[in-house]
Amino acid sequence: MNNSELWQSVLAQMQFHISRANFATWFQNTEIISKENEKITISVPNAFSKEWLSNKYNKLILKILHDTDDSIKDLDFVIKPLSAKNPSPRAAENGKDEVEQLKFDEFKINKETNLNPRYTFDNFVVGSFNELAHAAALAVADSPGFTYNPLFIYGGTGLGKTHLIQAIGNKISDDPKKKKVRYISSEKFVSGIITAIRSNNMEAFKASLAPIDILILDDVQFLSGKTKTQEEFFHVFNSLYEKNKQIVLSSDRPPNAIPELEERLRSRFEGGMIADVSLPDYETRLVILKTKLQERGVELPDNVLDYIATNVKKNIRELEGALNKLLVYNKINASLDIETVKKLLKGFVFSPFDVANYKKIIEVVAKFYNLEEKNLFDPTRRKEIVKPRQIAMFLLRKELKYSFPAIARKFGGKDHTTAIYAYKKILQENEENNKLTEELNLIKQRIYSG
Ligand code: ADP
Ligand code: MG
Repeated sequence: MNNSELWQSVLAQMQFHISRANFATWFQNTEIISKENEKITISVPNAFSKEWLSNKYNKLILKILHDTDDSIKDLDFVIKPLSAKNPSPRAAENGKDEVEQLKFDEFKINKETNLNPRYTFDNFVVGSFNELAHAAALAVADSPGFTYNPLFIYGGTGLGKTHLIQAIGNKISDDPKKKKVRYISSEKFVSGIITAIRSNNMEAFKASLAPIDILILDDVQFLSGKTKTQEEFFHVFNSLYEKNKQIVLSSDRPPNAIPELEERLRSRFEGGMIADVSLPDYETRLVILKTKLQERGVELPDNVLDYIATNVKKNIRELEGALNKLLVYNKINASLDIETVKKLLKGFVFSPFDVANYKKIIEVVAKFYNLEEKNLFDPTRRKEIVKPRQIAMFLLRKELKYSFPAIARKFGGKDHTTAIYAYKKILQENEENNKLTEELNLIKQRIYSG
């Protein structure tokens, strides 16, 4: 067995041990470059892969190697940048300026597709918090229209939804088969439709969407309550879907939790694959930071990275913001000691006690259910109000340890048994009803993320 055959056999076995998404992320562009004495050396494309493979998969790879050839007793990884043997199109285009260039990609939004080339699968970090969404996105990018249609990605802000759905678009439009991709934010979509209606141009608007092979619509929760837009979108959706065109959607919550969404549209949204992105853990936050540093071609001391990863937990956008702040400071000032870091990152560091309070809970619950805050206090038995009100009472008790009489006072001097009833009801339903559990989780996420 030569080195290449040996590695192929290891890869084939690795696939049984880890997820498809992780496999694609960590084992792409790896190979055995030498087998000397009892040691195998594997080349990897960058320091990040090296670190991940040697920390996470070293044992497993060695075991598989040893099982295949028992003379093998040791393993090593070396970095062999891709550009040396097999330049990526971008590296070829930009040469040494690649890292510098990355910063200007913001201005390079493709006029035809609306995609930002910065968002790729290559620079998207995968962990258990987004593994399913990533795997589904890759599958869709590989065979648009035929795997999961629509693909619906949901999760809180700054957790990578836009990055992931644009990565699908970028991967497809890089393909020489030249499919027509169009990325649209729901806000733009709504204003497009309103303009079309006003200027009596609906047919032209629809005609502009007809030739699209992959439609990516970001933040569809924004369609909530926009009846006319929903109606038009329903027709656009159907005509693309019938032609096996791919539709990719993102939202800050699952379809069944979007208020004022037409039933027929909701059932379309639920007709394909639904996957969520959640919060990365400490370890993954560290990996994300390292990836971003590498992208920019700069370094920061380990204790600084550890401080950021430990303390900036709100979402990935904040993590990036914290990093950027330090990098800007670092560029101008020579040294970055931990005390300075603490000072600089004050606004990013999150403590649950800072943010969960009465005002926040009322604000978040009302907003989540598309109500005005005062509606929560309306003396009504309307279902759309009763449930959010009970949830607000439940959270005041559960998260802030309010007494039942105190809750009752807040809600217009109601009898405190009403508050007890609300608490028990939500508690029980939470156990029996997955939809409610999911809603509570999303609400809590918002309460605790500033
Ligand atoms: P959302 O659309 O969910 O609000 P974004 O996709 O805009 O979030 O992500 C916010 C920032 O975090 C972006 O700069 C994005 O590149 C970065 N980011 C999010 N998820 C990841 C990830 N898994 N790996 C690397 N960067 C990420
Ligand atoms: Mg987004």
